[in-house]
Amino acid sequence: KRRNPNEVEFLQATREIFDSLRPVFAQHPEYISSGILERLTEPERIVTFRVAWEDDAGRVHVNRGYRVQFNSELGPYKGGLRFHPSVNSSIMKFLAFEQIFKNALTGQPIGAGKGGADFDPKGKSDREIMRFCQSFMTELSRHIGPDIDVPAGDIGVGKREIGYLFGQYKRLKGGYEAGVLTGKDPSHGGSLGRKEATGYGTVYFTEEMLKEYDMSLEQKTVIVSGSGNVSIYAMEKAQQLGANVIACSDSSGYIVDKNGIDIECVKQLKEVENRRIKDYLKTHPDSQYFDDCSGVWSVPCDIALPCATQNELNEEDAKLLISNGVLAVGEGANMPCTNEALTLFQDHGILFAPAKAANAGGVAVSAMEMAQNSMRLRWTSEEVDARLHVVMRSIYESCIDAAERFGKPGNLIMGANVAGFLKVADAMAAHGLS
Ligand code: NDP
Repeated sequence: KRRNPNEVEFLQATREIFDSLRPVFAQHPEYISSGILERLTEPERIVTFRVAWEDDAGRVHVNRGYRVQFNSELGPYKGGLRFHPSVNSSIMKFLAFEQIFKNALTGQPIGAGKGGADFDPKGKSDREIMRFCQSFMTELSRHIGPDIDVPAGDIGVGKREIGYLFGQYKRLKGGYEAGVLTGKDPSHGGSLGRKEATGYGTVYFTEEMLKEYDMSLEQKTVIVSGSGNVSIYAMEKAQQLGANVIACSDSSGYIVDKNGIDIECVKQLKEVENRRIKDYLKTHPDSQYFDDCSGVWSVPCDIALPCATQNELNEEDAKLLISNGVLAVGEGANMPCTNEALTLFQDHGILFAPAKAANAGGVAVSAMEMAQNSMRLRWTSEEVDARLHVVMRSIYESCIDAAERFGKPGNLIMGANVAGFLKVADAMAAHGLS
């Protein structure tokens, strides 16, 4: 706390990890004596930089860019870029810190990083987005590379932005290093199945958790927050597995469609036309729209999938969900539930799939994109999806095993934190003091 004053999100993320690790330290005091925790919570490197760009009217704007290279024990730094006005060093550090454990859980050779800028893409023209991306990459290119640090997308950074960032990197390096970014369009070096991976993976993980208690998604009522990349594909997979998905949101409000959300319509609105979720009403007059995005948690459901942003589901929201009979919560976004909400879910026996494990499918398929780029070949969607399914099952198993081994059977929050920690901590020990 002394070293990171005012970094609320980062402190929240570290506190959750520390709480989970107590039983590990009790059995293995060597982790304490070797200073693993102090080293693990200090990023290897943070780069912040000026991003100056010109809008269509010729006015100059300055934003702040970040890349947090948190941990490279298991491979090149890996994690997305976020363009959103709320971006600051606390948010960048919490996201990169979470990425350490998530990436370790995937079992793939990737370290952890995160980056972005306090740039608001909303309302910007295509040319403005391109100029911003070019300016951002002009500095970032000094710090990344296929074997050093491989960024990807996150909030506000999709395949369009990745395309512009990649184009600028290619220009600066004078060569084609396909593996420097992931989340590329499949038509030029991206992996099939990457776009769907985080949302599908969240649902695969939730399905594993339900199976343990002889349940499935079949005929369950599901609500999802957000209507971006993770949300859309979480809704799609939940529907494919027989659930009735009745609500989703954006940062302005939420819709309820008792007939089941028309996913193709949400894709058209959000992926193609960049419109608001409210516009769903125009083609679905039987549905309802409400002006407050956090109200989505008041919709009665069996399963809630928060897939929008950090701390979007607080204690009051958790109380509402519980009183409406929720059975399970699966985190598609990073740290969407506050620690108070988490405690409440656990105290009431609600099945809980934590983000580090449940949303690791995106980065797992990003690592598959890196592998395909290195091998200069391309797997089919079916192949990628099958591999994703295997990875999500194996993450689930690792979480269950770790929770059992350290005395909290069935506690997936603890299991995910411990299983991820052990992989990284053992690599740190093997690599000596650094
Ligand atoms: P997108 O930018 O594609 O979508 C974000 C969505 O959330 C938008 O619909 C946005 O609405 C909405 N939103 C933002 N704030 C709120 C809020 N307070 N309440 C309700 N809705 C809100 O981002 P992604 O889908 O890529 O990312 C979502 C989350 O998932 C983030 O936490 C991200 O870190 C995490 N994640 C993403 C991965 C990926 O592969 N993309 C991988 C792993 C984690 P609006 O359009 O109004 O802004």
